[in-house]
Amino acid sequence: NSIVAIVGRPNVGKSTLFNRLVQRREAIVDSVSGVTRDRHYGKSDWNGKEFSVIDTGGYITGSDDIFEGEIRKQVNLAIDEADLIVFVVNVEDGITPMDAEVAKLLRKVKKPIFTVVNKVDNAMREPDAVEFYNLGLGEYHTIASINGSGTGDLLDALAEKMPEPEEVDLEKEELPRFAVVGRPNAGKSSFINALIGEDRNIVTNIAGTTRDSIDTKYNRFGFDFNLVDTAGIRKKSRVKEDLEFYSVMRAVRTIEYSDVIILVVDATRGFEGQDQNIFWLAEKNRKGVVILINKWDLVDKETNTMRDYEAMVRKQIEPFTDVPIVFISALTKQRLFKAIETAVEVFERRKFKIPTSKLNDALLEIVKSYPPPATKGKFVKIKYCMQLPTPTPQFAFFCNLPQYVRDPYRRFLENKLREMYDLSGVPITIYFRQK
Ligand code: GDP
Repeated sequence: NSIVAIVGRPNVGKSTLFNRLVQRREAIVDSVSGVTRDRHYGKSDWNGKEFSVIDTGGYITGSDDIFEGEIRKQVNLAIDEADLIVFVVNVEDGITPMDAEVAKLLRKVKKPIFTVVNKVDNAMREPDAVEFYNLGLGEYHTIASINGSGTGDLLDALAEKMPEPEEVDLEKEELPRFAVVGRPNAGKSSFINALIGEDRNIVTNIAGTTRDSIDTKYNRFGFDFNLVDTAGIRKKSRVKEDLEFYSVMRAVRTIEYSDVIILVVDATRGFEGQDQNIFWLAEKNRKGVVILINKWDLVDKETNTMRDYEAMVRKQIEPFTDVPIVFISALTKQRLFKAIETAVEVFERRKFKIPTSKLNDALLEIVKSYPPPATKGKFVKIKYCMQLPTPTPQFAFFCNLPQYVRDPYRRFLENKLREMYDLSGVPITIYFRQK
């Protein structure tokens, strides 16, 4: 899974291009989760190649009044983390001093660079783009990201430079893969070390599935699993924001190859934006999730502290509120066993299967008592439902007018399923299909 980073100065059309590149896929994912939010990371695929796109502009603060230092930082992030770099310039402005600055940085880079001249929205403009040869980056692509023209050719060119998909045979791998992710200093390494540190011979380090992780084959408390450690690999002397970016990037790569995401949160900082980002990534990728509130030893506790804290976190992760939350201390080794046990439970629950007849017996009653509300005078009749033969629980409800079922009803059914069957921490997907 290649990472494509989009760089360029503000207002050249980076985010429009970003939306173009990820559009099709994202649209599907969003309609499933029913959630929209600002996105700087998205997934897509083209010609059979799956890839992630990052709008690096989204990670840069004050990007409307950007300083040279900021853009340098942005470009360096892209250089370090991405496999392919898309450099966006605007034909209306010609080469600005800042464009020249970016090009200078990019000329030294060995990775494939794609210079993209934006706002070439009619053929008359094509000749104007020629001046961008002077950037010294070779061939360029012209696009009009506003209407999408040129993006197909750009995607063709990008896909051509992407390696064939990594051969990760998840079917063959019987051991559950637990990814430990979280913000810098949340305590990921401490958690892993507390689990494996004292008795090194219970673990075998094996090559990470992706080059950003170290996998540790783990066998303890009677469980066998692979711990995927994203904290172990670090780059030195990074400023704080860069570290944030890296921790999200690591999570991006790792989450896809894992079964259960163990999200480590620093109790003294609360559940913040980046924690949420990682959480959404896990949900989007339909992974099991366990949230560990670490450093609980540092929190002054009164009678309801834990309960209140838990409620606060649940509020932040709506509507996925039944994810298990475990309060731990990697330092004092509190509830580490509980944490692993919970991850194993989530892993087992992801494999939940129910026969169609049983599912219908239980759900059709409910659907009869609480049918979907009429939308625009249309009455939806759900005839039957079934679980799809997918690795994680997905259900199809067959009805006459699937397009008239609204999100609240989808969530209602999801909640019913969660009430009836223990699916805490497990992503559920519900489809409505014509019958
Ligand atoms: P990582 O970046 O997520 O791998 O975080 P580290 O494991 O390096 O931990 C960051 C800092 O928090 C270190 O100074 C740890 O000693 C400290 N720390 C980690 N877990 C705990 C904990 O449960 N309690 C306390 N008091 N400190 C912790």
